[in-house]
Amino acid sequence: MTPDTTPPEDTGAEAADATRVVRAGLPAPEPYEPALPGPAFAAHYHLPGDVTAAPYDYGRDANPTWTRLEAALAELESPGVPAEAVAFASGMAAITAVLMAVPAPPPDGAPRGHVVLPADGYNLVPGGLRTLLEEHGSEVRAAPTAGDAQAALLDGARLLWLETPSNPGLDVCDIRRLAAAAHAAGALVAVDNTLPTPLGQRPLELGADLSVASGTKALTGHGDVLLGYAVTRDPALARRLRTWRKTAGAIPGPMEAWLAHRSLATLELRTARQAANALAVAEALRATPGVRDVRHPGLPSDPAHALAARQMRGGRYGCVVAFTLPDRAAAERFLGAARLVDEATSFGGVRTTAERRGRWGGDAVPEGFVRFSAGVEDTADLVADLREALAYALAR
Ligand SMILES: *Cc1c(COP(=O)(O)O)cnc(C)c1O
Repeated sequence: MTPDTTPPEDTGAEAADATRVVRAGLPAPEPYEPALPGPAFAAHYHLPGDVTAAPYDYGRDANPTWTRLEAALAELESPGVPAEAVAFASGMAAITAVLMAVPAPPPDGAPRGHVVLPADGYNLVPGGLRTLLEEHGSEVRAAPTAGDAQAALLDGARLLWLETPSNPGLDVCDIRRLAAAAHAAGALVAVDNTLPTPLGQRPLELGADLSVASGTKALTGHGDVLLGYAVTRDPALARRLRTWRKTAGAIPGPMEAWLAHRSLATLELRTARQAANALAVAEALRATPGVRDVRHPGLPSDPAHALAARQMRGGRYGCVVAFTLPDRAAAERFLGAARLVDEATSFGGVRTTAERRGRWGGDAVPEGFVRFSAGVEDTADLVADLREALAYALAR
């Protein structure tokens, strides 16, 4: 009898996150080739004869560096169940693609239905993108994330857009419940998964049709790349998104795609430390008189915690903490005094950052509202720095 030498097939479904992230999307090992091949800088490829089956023809259509990153993202968002990822130039490029191109208009010219947005989502979505959608003939309605308020707007909708936890308010909605209600109303469901990353939340497993994210934040985590993606298990939706990307030209650069893929290997380490730091910071803030409205979904006392604990994964509630100091001056003193906290926008980086959101004018927040993004520094160092800066900021 000859022994069975066929290696067991790896579906990737059982691996733990830390194991999955270091190999996601890598090609099969080839002697004398790198584990993660470098970026393919190509506007065009050698393209003989018949082009119909060519995997790579022109650089706006496809690129092998994107292909590998997309395989990794699909594996992280949907382990064990086939899915397709489409990478974009930025989070907004991915979000715009979904809101403009999904779903396909009904063939019989029937009304297309309206889009339901979170009123408190990432400010460009209920802001500039809503305006753009309306200018192009879409009807848009919006309700807050908290309390699943968007459920009341689903009658006649074509697409429900969720963002949970919401940025910057950190409210949480029930993806499973809202997805079921949207599907019953005939609408597709997309979730902005930027803040949790696929390690903190898997919207497709909770019933969403699309998980969409900015890769600029915690996914890549070094504050040096802009990137976005959408993942779906529906090949027809993925096809529409690829057609949109090629037509709008909203493509990621090969270097960015490669940097993003390289960063995934540390995603588990980074998000675990960031989540632990964010929780320690939130607890220290809550214990400080003069600090109001501390929000972090990992805080047991947070109004969103019970729901977040049910639908988020691995105790990973993200790196963002929101809180309010008495006024603008106190917030500015805090940001100026904290030595381990860079004053910067965005979030999810390895270095702790924070900003007074009111300086942009786009979010409905008090003047002393601070959005804080915990990095991967030592927890005790970070909390000590926070306490000192708070003492200084609140002293007068
Ligand atoms: C930053 C962000 C976006 C936009 O992503 P870009 O990569 O900056 O275009 C979208 N959604 C959320 C929740 C974000 O935080």
